[in-house]
Amino acid sequence: MLVSTEMKAGCRLLVFCLVSTSLVLNAQPASKVSQPNVFLITIDTLRADHVHCYGYSQIQTPALDSLARDGIRFAQAFTPSPITNTSHTSILTGLLPSSHGVTDFAVSLAPSHTTWAELLKKRGYHTAAFIGAVILDSHSLAPGLDRGFDFYDDFPEKLPLRIHWGRVERRGLDVAVRAEKWLTAHPGGSHFVWIHLYDPHDPYEPPPPYSQTYRSHLYDGEIAYADSALGNFLEYIKKRGWYENSIVIVVGDHGEGLGEHGENTHGIFLYDSTTHVPLVLKLAGNTNSGKVISAQVRTTDILPTVLDLIGIPASIKFDGESLNPFFGEARPDARVAFGETDYPLRFGWAPLRSVREQGFKFIEAPRPELYDLTQDPGEIHNNYAPWDQTVQKSRVLLTELRAKMPPPAPSPATVPQGTVNELKALGYLGKADVGSSTNVPEPSLLPDSKDRIEEANLLHTAMMAGEDNRSSDARVALEKVLEFDPRSPTALRQLGELEFKAGDYANAAEHLRTVREIRPDDAAAAFDEGQAQEKLGKIAAAREALESSLKLIPGQLPARLLLGRVYLELKDPKAAEDQFEAATLLDSENLEAQIGITQCEIAEGNPAAALDQLKSLSSSHPKDAQIFELLAEAYRSLGRTQDADHAEDRAKLLRGNPHK
Ligand SMILES: [Zn+2]
Repeated sequence: MLVSTEMKAGCRLLVFCLVSTSLVLNAQPASKVSQPNVFLITIDTLRADHVHCYGYSQIQTPALDSLARDGIRFAQAFTPSPITNTSHTSILTGLLPSSHGVTDFAVSLAPSHTTWAELLKKRGYHTAAFIGAVILDSHSLAPGLDRGFDFYDDFPEKLPLRIHWGRVERRGLDVAVRAEKWLTAHPGGSHFVWIHLYDPHDPYEPPPPYSQTYRSHLYDGEIAYADSALGNFLEYIKKRGWYENSIVIVVGDHGEGLGEHGENTHGIFLYDSTTHVPLVLKLAGNTNSGKVISAQVRTTDILPTVLDLIGIPASIKFDGESLNPFFGEARPDARVAFGETDYPLRFGWAPLRSVREQGFKFIEAPRPELYDLTQDPGEIHNNYAPWDQTVQKSRVLLTELRAKMPPPAPSPATVPQGTVNELKALGYLGKADVGSSTNVPEPSLLPDSKDRIEEANLLHTAMMAGEDNRSSDARVALEKVLEFDPRSPTALRQLGELEFKAGDYANAAEHLRTVREIRPDDAAAAFDEGQAQEKLGKIAAAREALESSLKLIPGQLPARLLLGRVYLELKDPKAAEDQFEAATLLDSENLEAQIGITQCEIAEGNPAAALDQLKSLSSSHPKDAQIFELLAEAYRSLGRTQDADHAEDRAKLLRGNPHK
């Protein structure tokens, strides 16, 4: 463990605290009070032991190093979660994952949980957030995280799938510059700005010159690049004269496995490789500069600390506590750090919980683990024994914690297909890949992820290869998973999708059908099987799959539209019309649904009803050949031959040259 013993002695008066306390007492209108700017920079996937000022010599991180010189460096800071949106929600609420409930992608942060931005906004702060990956987009994967922000820099909707940069991810420098532009446009008053630098997340593809300098260790290259983006931002606030009197926090959201314990990336395990993060806190006035605190602290402590520093009375309850006691000469005790991950549930494996106190870590798993961190910082030798006192004490702590937590939300949010695609582009399994994580058996009855980590790595490799259009690499990895577990629904699901993309609909349908046998509640697998069967011309099978998908999740627009078309092929216009009507309830402007309804009306022998609608559609969509073809059909059924010929000519013209 890279703990510096350097401790700057000397009690410094926390001038700022006193000043802000008096402001609270004076009860002046918040907006007129001079409050320090607060800048929070989260760096994704950042292991503490890969940062220069944390003792790593193979990297240059000058910006983080300089901030640590001007601020306080916490040598032993831990995240409660190894997954991006869960860990960020903990930072922004001061709550553990089981308290805030955002334990999965796309789960809304409940309005009852007040956020950092809301608290500061109430005090007159101008608030803005700049995110580096769609994983934190408040429209899709992180609903509710934007609460309290005047501006939240979400990603644009509806960009072509082949675009990566700007659609699902932004380079760190881009994020920093967007924040700087916003600050330049909103210079007055106090600011709370959160910047999220996603770069160190895999795949590791730093831009030059970092791609060259770090070509043998590209993960470090990404960190060095993210550090340069941080440097750019620090330079900006220095130029504006804001740096000295601002509170600046830099923290990692979680680490990276890098093969330790067999885990290549993060999310499955709760070892230090993915939970130990760097945390640097620069106070206003640079008080306590250069101090290093080696006692264990948590990322849930950050928000209570900031409120304490600004002088906002704590009216809400946090799982974390202010770090203020560490700033003086006293040496408060290390804090108990809890860890939680439900990500293994996505693969059908047991979720994990952990308790870390200075000196040991206990991990509750089907095969529990206990590590003596003093003797064994790499967490290699499992000393678990049920009668061990540390184990018993940890179990009591976990039981107490569970008793305090609100019951889990009854049903997590449904992730729409577009969002699943974005998740995959970033290397995460979408829920649609694995079905629902609800209704799982008792965790202790599920497989232990320690026995399955190789599968998780292979699935991750396959997904990244699939995203990269390296389908043969993806196929090799997935077939290897199936050697381990021939009924791995995740592998079968990905293979089915791969075959669908490759145009092998028969194999796709077979794999997806097997997934549905294993997971009858997998609505997305059912929808995908429906698509494959429809392509194969097996219309009855397509109808069955689509009906069952919609029974599980009724609000799926693409499934409704496809089922409508399937019913038309089955010559059942009444049932088709029901589906298209249902589709318009989901999206009243949907053109395919509106056209579908007119097709049904014609097929039902009611061309007069279709005609009005088609006329109006033809004027709003004058380049749509299908509308004119249907118009011709409707006219012909009504005996209006001349009008029918006109419409048909128009349709032919459009088919020949759609740009006319
Ligand atoms: Zn992350």
